[in-house]
Amino acid sequence: MAGETKKTGVMSYLSSFGSTPLIYALGAVATLLALAAVALLRDLHRLRARLEDSTATQARMAAELESVGQMHARIEAANVAKSRFLATVSHEIRTPLNGVLGMADLMLDTPLSPEQTSYARAIKTSGEALLTLIEEILDFSRIEAGKLEVQLQPVALAPLVEGMIELLAPRAQGKNIEIAALIDPSLPHDVLTDGSRLRQILTNLAGNAVKFTEAGGVGVRVARDGRFLRFIVSDTGTGIPANRLDAIFEEFEQVDGQGSDTGGTGLGLAISRRLARLMGGDISVESVIGIGSAFILTLPFRPSSSTLPSKPQSEVVDLDAVILAAGPYQGEYLGEMLRAMGGRCRVVATPEAGLAALAEQPATLLIVDAAFGQDIARQMVHASQQAGCRRHIVLLSPYERRSFGAPGDAGFDRYLVKPVRRRSLEVQVRDWQGEDAALVTRAEEASLGEPLAGRRILIAEDNDINALLAGRLIERLGGRAVRASTGQEALTRLEASCQPGGTAFDALLCDVRMPDLDGLAVIRQWRRREAERAAPALPAIALTANAFAEDREACLEAGFDEFMSKPLDRERFIACLARLFPRARAVA
Ligand code: ADP
Repeated sequence: MAGETKKTGVMSYLSSFGSTPLIYALGAVATLLALAAVALLRDLHRLRARLEDSTATQARMAAELESVGQMHARIEAANVAKSRFLATVSHEIRTPLNGVLGMADLMLDTPLSPEQTSYARAIKTSGEALLTLIEEILDFSRIEAGKLEVQLQPVALAPLVEGMIELLAPRAQGKNIEIAALIDPSLPHDVLTDGSRLRQILTNLAGNAVKFTEAGGVGVRVARDGRFLRFIVSDTGTGIPANRLDAIFEEFEQVDGQGSDTGGTGLGLAISRRLARLMGGDISVESVIGIGSAFILTLPFRPSSSTLPSKPQSEVVDLDAVILAAGPYQGEYLGEMLRAMGGRCRVVATPEAGLAALAEQPATLLIVDAAFGQDIARQMVHASQQAGCRRHIVLLSPYERRSFGAPGDAGFDRYLVKPVRRRSLEVQVRDWQGEDAALVTRAEEASLGEPLAGRRILIAEDNDINALLAGRLIERLGGRAVRASTGQEALTRLEASCQPGGTAFDALLCDVRMPDLDGLAVIRQWRRREAERAAPALPAIALTANAFAEDREACLEAGFDEFMSKPLDRERFIACLARLFPRARAVA
């Protein structure tokens, strides 16, 4: 009602002015509306223009995206091509290099004048440097191309770390420095990690430590640190200037005045750190010039499902040991191993301190490092016998084994080979009187001399030089080599060896690339035949110039037990045989 009253009021108010003002008012409203419409149209226009603009931009962006995609695909293809090219080049370089290194090795075993020896050594050192360079560049390019994948598998920690330092031991002992490892006994036997990458990183860190240390030694210690496993590689070497501590992890960086004469490339640490990060860990370094360095590798701690502690939970040993050790690490590590078994232990660094320790409190076990020489070792044994100690162990490197003479002559009951494996020490100590200990001594003796004594090995290899090298190496290790120059011939010989009157082979060393029947086909067929007649599996090692993890996987999948890349390295070959013939080095 009120609205109606109002409407009537307005109308009457307008009509009170007559019709003209009404028309003016309507005109003004119309003009305003027209103006508003024009403004709206203009805005609409602008909006459309902007829309068109953005459509064009979108189209441009789509085109750009497409070209980025194409570029990415091209880069991917180029990376694949680069990797393949590098793999091929590396394969092609490795094969002749195998000949150069192997022949230099054989030549060094023949009577040579001092001048000739130095030339042959130079050939070998340069060849080895070339080989490292090829491997590192290959690795680096694969990391760059994102081609490196981490493969988690249960890995036995102690054998990996101890095996790695055993391979470096000849180089360290040749320089008169020591190398030793200690794996915390409370760690599980197996952890989940990428074993070959871990070995590669540790070999690089410990290899550098050996390279840059002239006195004292190198120690590798493994322990748990919360959610991480921590590997500390320490040395008593040159040390690294504080202002270079970051730079050495960059590609091709070396500390001034060190690199050129050490045969390094400056790539090792860059690769190692990238690998560590790829595995969820990292590497850091602490160093003091003139004192030494410590590289710390951390990796996520992932116990494997079969998480048994590596330390046997059995009886605690009752012993009181005095250890006389020359270097900075091995003695301390042995002390910690013995304490973890429940024993008491005093580690001393000089014969005087050793004699004082024996006089102060009687010991039940004396361990002496052969580095002190036979005279001092004899004196120590004599003094400890006087003090009532009945057990004596001497620590020997393979070099000292020859110069020291028979341990028994100096009064020792047993010896341990340096670097000492925890398992070897445990067997010696726990089963002092038992057969096991005797077995270790015999096994270590065998491993020092001719680890292949009495073994017959079939070499399947089409390349004459490589076959000759492998054959010589086997013979030098005490074994007998029989050669097959094609895959087919290898199968025929293997078949004949199983027939009545045939002589069995103890192992097969088989080249992967052979013209008629390649190594993978040979082992597949042979494994099938073994399965048919339910025969035990012949230990088989694949030999190839390809260094990639895929090649290794392919070999293991086809039925090989081990994989060795060329050039055939004597130490690695021995380590590989030790894994194949565990009885030969049961606990060494
Ligand atoms: P390479 O050893 O091939 O030269 P790396 O990347 O492994 O390359 O090492 C880079 C540099 O870091 C070495 O050249 C050396 O100068 C320095 N370095 C590495 N480890 C040590 C160490 N343990 N003691 C002293 N210097 C070291």
